[in-house]
Amino acid sequence: MRQVPAGPRRARAAGSSPAPAPGPLPVPVPGPGPSRGLLPRPPRPARPLLPLLALLAAAAVLFLSWPGGERGTAGPDPPKSLRDPGPPSERALRTLLAHLDPARLWGSLLRPLLHERLPGGPGSRAARQHIVSHLRSLGARWHLELDTFVAPTPRGPVAFSSVVATVAPVASRRLALGCHYDTKALPGGTFVGATDAAVPCALLLELAAALDGHLRERGEQDPALTLQLLFLDGEEAFEAWSDSDSLYGARHLAAKMAARGHPAGSEVTAMSLLVLLDLLGAARPAIHSHFPESHRWFLRLATIEQRLRRLGLLYSAPPEPPFFRLEPPPGPVEDDHLPFLRRGVPVLHLIPTPFPRVWHTPGDTEANLHPPTVQDLAKVLLVFVAEFLQL
Ligand SMILES: [Zn+2]
Repeated sequence: MRQVPAGPRRARAAGSSPAPAPGPLPVPVPGPGPSRGLLPRPPRPARPLLPLLALLAAAAVLFLSWPGGERGTAGPDPPKSLRDPGPPSERALRTLLAHLDPARLWGSLLRPLLHERLPGGPGSRAARQHIVSHLRSLGARWHLELDTFVAPTPRGPVAFSSVVATVAPVASRRLALGCHYDTKALPGGTFVGATDAAVPCALLLELAAALDGHLRERGEQDPALTLQLLFLDGEEAFEAWSDSDSLYGARHLAAKMAARGHPAGSEVTAMSLLVLLDLLGAARPAIHSHFPESHRWFLRLATIEQRLRRLGLLYSAPPEPPFFRLEPPPGPVEDDHLPFLRRGVPVLHLIPTPFPRVWHTPGDTEANLHPPTVQDLAKVLLVFVAEFLQL
């Protein structure tokens, strides 16, 4: 992914500073243009109040308009029986969160991905095998498909293979969660891409495991709305990022899905929402809302985070800033969502801006991850997905 050169630049001095790290590492910023700070911050005493007020207002709006996960998207309103009864009770919330397993997320799901995953190479094959075998080991019947193709790249033809996993492919609507599993070819060093994007992939796999019982039941009931996971290959550019040298897997898959018939029109129009995770795993991510079409879902994430914090269910607590920020993003970011966004899919882009300090450096390893942040993100996302799917 890259930040669009024309947009404001991400800046380390913006207050979203990462955890202390050994030695100064430059934060690479692609493209020309001077560095610019994030939006000016209000005087210090006002800081805790403004986001809080904004959150409260957002929460009020959301709670009033919550029912109907499909409203505002391309599809018609679902029948009343399918509408969301509202946020879960505290007891239901605690029961749901108990399905997460931090040791499984870290040891069984993330660690096996922490190696080089260059498209077409043995690391990529191993990662794909890991993803597929985990989903096959679950009780829910995941329909698994590989989108395999060869495309020209600046380094010659390369074979790419994205994994598409869907619980109930015939369901008329889908909540899609996506990440990329390839790693960037960095000159002169092994790059394991812990945040880029092993952690996002592990989060998706953990969500599938935590929701397995619910998804299994739901799959047997012929649901109207189902869950789809996209593990995309070839997000990274081989040379300089361009329209043709980047997003190989996402471009191929979006075109293929748009051409495929489906009760909703096509597999692309069946997507009620695409939630794309990238560059997650470092401490104190600042995640912003990027699109008006999905802003209410972003507010839902912010509200869930706030609620879990209030209940003391997150490691992250004040004065730590929230993950989901209500300030405008520092600028647009090009990523795997684009081929879907351009075809009309509402997108939630969960990527921190500024990017992690170790972005596209050999330092993007397990040692520079922040496990409590990863576990907190898993909790917020789990509640979000469970609410969206009305599980
Ligand atoms: Zn990257």
